[in-house]
Amino acid sequence: MFNRTKIVATIGPASSSKEVLRDLINAGVDVCRLNFSHGAYDDHAKVVSTIHELNVELDTHVAILVDLQGPKLRIGEVEENTVLEEGKEIEFTTEKCIGNASKVYITYQEFPQDVKKGERIMVDDGKLLLEIISTDGVKKVIARVVQGGQLSSKKGVNLPNTAISLPCLTEKDLSDLKFALEQNVQWIGLSFVRSATDIIELKHLIRQQGEKSPRIIAKIEKPEAISDIDDIIKEADGLMVARGDLGVEIPMQNVPLLQKMIVKKCLQASKPVIIATQMMESMISCSTPTRAEVSDVANAVMDGTDAVMLSGETSVGKFPVRVVETMQKIITVIENDEDIYYKHFLSCSKDPRRYISDHICSNACTMAQQVNAKAIITLTHSGYTALMLSSKRPKAPIFVFTDNRSLVSKLSLVWGIRGFYYNRQISTDHTIDDIKYMLKKKGYINEGDLVIFIASVPMTEKGKTNMLKLSHA
Ligand code: PGA
Ligand code: MN
Repeated sequence: MFNRTKIVATIGPASSSKEVLRDLINAGVDVCRLNFSHGAYDDHAKVVSTIHELNVELDTHVAILVDLQGPKLRIGEVEENTVLEEGKEIEFTTEKCIGNASKVYITYQEFPQDVKKGERIMVDDGKLLLEIISTDGVKKVIARVVQGGQLSSKKGVNLPNTAISLPCLTEKDLSDLKFALEQNVQWIGLSFVRSATDIIELKHLIRQQGEKSPRIIAKIEKPEAISDIDDIIKEADGLMVARGDLGVEIPMQNVPLLQKMIVKKCLQASKPVIIATQMMESMISCSTPTRAEVSDVANAVMDGTDAVMLSGETSVGKFPVRVVETMQKIITVIENDEDIYYKHFLSCSKDPRRYISDHICSNACTMAQQVNAKAIITLTHSGYTALMLSSKRPKAPIFVFTDNRSLVSKLSLVWGIRGFYYNRQISTDHTIDDIKYMLKKKGYINEGDLVIFIASVPMTEKGKTNMLKLSHA
């Protein structure tokens, strides 16, 4: 059959050729991520069109997720072999210069205004740690090196204690967004989200595109986002546990519990969630993962995440295809264990749902469990019932038929779902027979299997799922 947990692969120099992309998709990639922190528009556009071609060639619906960089802070260029020594002082300046061990440029004009004495500066994923001694409030900040080491050009800077005044959408993000909208991508990831307002702002900028509008993933990588997590889940269409920056901004030993908390809340809210960063990190250079990495992927699958993500492993690593194959094998083994299914149902149903369709979805999943149904089939325009069914994590695969073409690809990110474009205008009974026939022909279900069908009656009425039918295929 197919995996319920989806795989997101970041595309970069190691994986942007048509040959590698084809192998990645055949190995199980459901969503390709383009990280707009790197790469030129021309290169991204080429990847987008190659994925479109491959979707046609392979009859797949691989989605594209564009990650906007957000207010990511960086240092400028520095001289080669610059080493920061513990106890020494260094100046951060907002005036461009080639940096060295005594002075370095930071890409954040308000830095001297926003910081206070005693706050921490972390550079290069937290490898270097500094403490602020003073600021002139204009363009110069003096800091002491607490944990030293090699400093190289353009490394990222995290300020875990500082309230950063930069907007969530920078000028670069706005032009990247315009480009992404032109490319008709399905998902937009917003980095360094601090509050639900950041999501609302982005929504206003993209909702003019109608049903083609990409949906929004809030990347959770700031302590402020953790404090506002419930409202962020409400506003966003999905979340990413961005463990790379999150593990710098908060103590990294706190990340595992937060990961579990976020997955659980997303399941309760029927919003897809991605676990990201360093899942198979050692495979950037090594042909096998560590046992700890295998456990990390396996545990994310057991927790019920919608998707697991690869970053450097597929974008710049030596074994992009092999890493996806390895991840796929781990997912398959865990998903063969009956225990992972449906147990999430109880935690999801705590929150009383309001609509008739919510009750139809819950009961479809309960019934599927009771009768060991081989498929739950839904017809949807908005995708609401698809997400609702998926969040119960039923054992039966979920087949989604929709007249909304862009939704088919969007759903590639979502746990347990296979989407199909369907726009025949026939009666409910004929539609059910038609779809069963199609699924049998594709080998997804067999003659005599019990299947559950949910839809709205009359069929033309969108957004009112009110019918559940149990029958043999
Ligand atoms: P990034 O986001 O790879 O764009 O930084 C993921 C993370 O921070 O974990
Ligand atoms: Mn990040």
